[in-house]
Amino acid sequence: MVKKKFRGLFFNAVLALSLISLVPLIFIGLHLTRVNSRVLQHEIFQKEQVVAGRLSAIVHTYITHVSEFFSVFIDLHTEFGGHAFLNQEDLSYLRAKNPSISYLALLDRKGKMLLSAGNPPTTDYQTLLPEMIKSCIVRKENYWGPVSFSAQRGWLASMAFPVYESLNNKFVAGILVVQVSLQPLGQALLQAYPLEMEAFIVNAKQEVVAYNGAAGGVTDTISDKLNQQIRAIHEELGGNLTGEVKLPDGRKWLVASANLILPGWKVYVGQPANITSKLVLESTVRSYGGVLRIALIMLLFILGVSYWVIIPITRPLERLRKAALRLREGDEIIRREEIDIPKNEIGDLAEVLIETSESLHARREDLLSAQKMLSSTNQDLEQRVEERTRELKALTGQLVKNERLATMGQMASIISHEIRNPLAVISNATRLIKMLLKNPDVKVEKQISIIESEIKQANSIIGEVLGYVRSRDLILSKVEINSYVHDVLASYPLPSGIKLVERLEASNANVKIDTEEMKQAIRNIIANAVEAMQNQGTLTVGTRSGRRMVCIYITDTGPGIAVDIRQKIFSPFFTTKARGTGLGLAVVGKAIMRHQGKMFIKSKEGEGACFQIYLKIYHNPGDTCYGEIG
Ligand code: ADP
Repeated sequence: MVKKKFRGLFFNAVLALSLISLVPLIFIGLHLTRVNSRVLQHEIFQKEQVVAGRLSAIVHTYITHVSEFFSVFIDLHTEFGGHAFLNQEDLSYLRAKNPSISYLALLDRKGKMLLSAGNPPTTDYQTLLPEMIKSCIVRKENYWGPVSFSAQRGWLASMAFPVYESLNNKFVAGILVVQVSLQPLGQALLQAYPLEMEAFIVNAKQEVVAYNGAAGGVTDTISDKLNQQIRAIHEELGGNLTGEVKLPDGRKWLVASANLILPGWKVYVGQPANITSKLVLESTVRSYGGVLRIALIMLLFILGVSYWVIIPITRPLERLRKAALRLREGDEIIRREEIDIPKNEIGDLAEVLIETSESLHARREDLLSAQKMLSSTNQDLEQRVEERTRELKALTGQLVKNERLATMGQMASIISHEIRNPLAVISNATRLIKMLLKNPDVKVEKQISIIESEIKQANSIIGEVLGYVRSRDLILSKVEINSYVHDVLASYPLPSGIKLVERLEASNANVKIDTEEMKQAIRNIIANAVEAMQNQGTLTVGTRSGRRMVCIYITDTGPGIAVDIRQKIFSPFFTTKARGTGLGLAVVGKAIMRHQGKMFIKSKEGEGACFQIYLKIYHNPGDTCYGEIG
C-alpha cells in the first residue's frame, strides 16, 4: 500500500511536471495556430485578389469582346455594307453569329424603333432612351444599360451602340440596341474557377450578374439569396478590397473584391472562413510534428528530473516506512544506522521518528519496571492480606473464645457463688455437728470426714473452673527467671516420695510476667507430674535461656503421655482421670498464650513427660543478646 504511494508520488510528479510543461507547449501551439491562421488568411486573401483581378480581366475581355463585336460589325457594315443603314438581314446575321444575343433593335436618332429581332426584350427601352441617346448620339459612345433577369435566358445585359452614317463624317444615324445573355460569363467563371471559390460579378445596383455556382444560369430564387449575400458583403467590406464578412445566414466568409471596367460593377471572390480552420489544422498538425518532438524531449527530461528529485525523497521515506513498520510489529527502537538520514526535511522527520522510538523505548522500560514493581507489591500485598486474614481469623477465634470464656466465667461465677454458699453452710454445719458430738461414733466420724473431703474437692473444682474461665488483665512485673522458679518450687508442697532436682541455668534471664498466673500454670504442671508419678519419682525443674527466649522445663518420671491424646490434653475438660476436671492444662495453655509464649511437650510412653514453657526474655534497653537456646 505504502509502496504504491511512493510510486504514486513519482508518477504524480511526472504527471504534474508534464502538465506544467504542456502549458507552454499549448501556448506555443495556440500561437502557431494563430500565426498559421493569419498567414493563411493573408494567403487566401492574396489568392482571392488574384482571382478577382483575373475575373475582372475576363469580364473586361468579355465586354470588350462583345462591344468590339458590335462596333466592328457596325464599322464594317458602314464601310462595306453596300447599303446605307442596317436592315433586317443584318440583324438576323448578327444573331446567327452570336448566340448570346437575345434581342436586337435599330432605332433612329430620336429613338424611334425601325427594326427588331430576337426574343422580346426584358427591359423597357423607352425608359432608357434618354440615357442611350445621350451616350450614343451626343457623346458617340457605347451605352451599357442595366441588367435584367429572365427565367429562360438568365441574366441579360442591355447595351446600345451608335450606328454611323459613314465612317468619315462620324454622323450617328441611329442606335443599335442589344440585349446580350451573360450566361457565357458565368460559364466562363465556372470553367476558370470551379466551386472551390465562389465568384460573383455584380453590377452597379448590387445585382449578381454572373455566378460560378450556377452553371445553368442564375435562378430567381438563387439570385434573391445571392443579392442579399452580395449586399451584406458590400456593406461589411465598406471600402476595403478584402475582409472577413458575416453573411445573412451566419456563415463567415473571406472575401476579396475588384472593380470592373464598367462603372460601379464589381467582382467578388469568396470562400467560407472555416476553410482556414481546416488548412490551419493541417498546417498545425504539420507544425505539431516539431512540437510533439519537443514534447517527447520534455517528457524524457521530466522523467529524468523526477527520478533525480523524487528518488532521493522516496528512498529514505521507504526506509522510514520499513522502520516504522518494524516499530509497529514490536521492534523497540529505530537505529540511526538503519536510515541513511538526509540533511533535509525528511532527515528532520527521521530524527523525530527515531527520537519518538527512543522515548517509546524508555517509556516501555519504565512501564516494565513499574509492572514488575506492581506485581511484587501485589505479591507482598497478597502475603500481607493472607497474614492479616490469618491473624484476623486467629483474633476472631480468640475473640469468640474470649467471649465464650467471658460468658462461661460469668456463669461459673454465678454457679460457683450459688454452690459455694451452700457448701459453706454444709461445712459450717459439719463443723457444728463435730463440736456437738463429743464422742462421736467411728462411723459417724468417718462420714463427717468424707463430707469435709468432698466439700474440699468441690471447692477445688470450683476454684479450677473459676481459674480457667475468669479473665482479668495481666499484671506484669520483671522477675529473674531462676529465683522466680525456685520460689514457686519452694512454695509447692511436694509429697515425700518425690525427689526434686533443680537445674537452674547460670544466666539468670529476666522475664516480664504476671507472677501469679504463671505460678498457677507451673503448679498445675507439677501437680499433674506428681499425680502421674503416683507420689514416687523424680521431678526435674530447670531453666535454659537463648538470645530471645528462656525455657522452663518440668520433667517427670511418670508413664508419659500417649500419642493419641497429646493433641487433646490442652482442651478444656479433657481428662483421663476419674476425678479430674480437665482444666489444669487448659489454664496452663491460656496463661502461656496470654504471655505470648510457647509450649512444647516431649514424651515417650513409659519414660515420663517433659513440659517446656518458652517465654520472651526481657532485655533492658541497651542490653546485647548473645547465643540461642541450645
Ligand atoms: P486433669 O488433671 O484434671 O485430668 P489436666 O488438664 O491437668 O486435667 O490434665 C489433662 C490430662 O493430661 C490428664 O488427665 C492426664 O491424662 C494428662 N497428663 C497431664 N500431665 C501429665 C503427666 N505429667 N503425665 C501423664 N499424663 C499427664
